[in-house]
This record gives sequence, C-alpha cells and structure tokens, in this order.
Amino acid sequence: MENTNEMTLIFDSRPVNEGLARVAAASFFTQLNPTLEEVADVKTAVSEAVTNCIIHGYEGEVHKIRMDLRLKGRELYVDIADKGAGIADIKKAMEPLFTTKPEKDRSGMGFTFMEAFMDEVTVESKVGEGTSVHMKKTIQR
Ligand code: ATP
Ligand code: MG
Repeated sequence: MENTNEMTLIFDSRPVNEGLARVAAASFFTQLNPTLEEVADVKTAVSEAVTNCIIHGYEGEVHKIRMDLRLKGRELYVDIADKGAGIADIKKAMEPLFTTKPEKDRSGMGFTFMEAFMDEVTVESKVGEGTSVHMKKTIQR
C-alpha cells in the first residue's frame, strides 16, 4: 500500500543506544509533520520501553533489542522487544508505581508514561522468553 512505511532497528542493550532509538523513531515519523509535543511524546515512550528492556529484560547483560516502526496513514505503530526475563504478571507490572526494582531507584512509572503519551499500549510477555511492547499513536493533521 502506498501510504505505509516501515523500518526495523536492532541494537545492543547498552544505555548509550537509548538515544539512538529515540532519535531513529523521531526521524522516522517526521514525514507526517508532527508537532514538537508529538515528537517528545514518542521519544519519551520509546525511552521508557528501551530502558525497561535494558534494566529488567536483560538485567544489564548485553543482548539485542528490536524496534519495529510502522506508519499506516497517520497512525504510528512502535513495537519494542527483548528476549530477556519476561514479566510474570503484566497487569500488575503496568500499574502506576509498581516496580520490581525499588532499590535501583526505579519509580514504577514507565508503563504509566507510555500509556499517557501514546494512544494505545499493549504488552505481550512470557517468563524466560521475553517481552514486546506495542504502542500506537495517531499523529494529528
Ligand atoms: P521506572 O520506569 O519508573 O524507572 P520501572 O521500570 O520499575 O520504573 P515500569 O517501566 O512501569 O517501572 O515497569 C514496571 C515493572 O514491569 C518493572 O519493575 C519490571 O518488573 C517489569 N518490566 C517492565 N518492562 C520489562 C521488560 N522488558 N522485561 C522484564 N520486566 C519488565
Ligand atoms: Mg521502566
């Protein structure tokens, strides 16, 4: 279809690559002429999801994170996945202030921010297999 566009970025789970993922996502959808606020929203959501892969998914070990971006008309789809630890209780993990790493100064707000800044957030995960976060945002005209 003519009004679709896709890209995939696979990168090491190093904190330095969080910036790469944010900028890649922002660059990819500039073709829709988003507002600065829309760009900031997507960058924040991408950061939160990538940070979760690094800290929780791989617990600091270096493995691959995959980010798939897709445009369909004015809808932006962002999927961010790791093949790490997985999440036992997804519903609980998505509650505001819930964190399994309070000692590491995590506030348990990552999923809450993703939900605030994107239109839809869904999580698929299996313990020992990994986690994928699917997000969608419609970019206004
Ligand atoms: P914050 O994002 O505010 O620093 P946090 O990362 O703990 O804190 P969330 O991002 O909302 O908070 O995630 C909540 C919980 O979900 C995490 O504490 C972790 O247990 C689990 N989680 C999130 N993403 C992953 C992932 N990719 N792999 C494994 N567990 C995850
Ligand atoms: Mg987080």
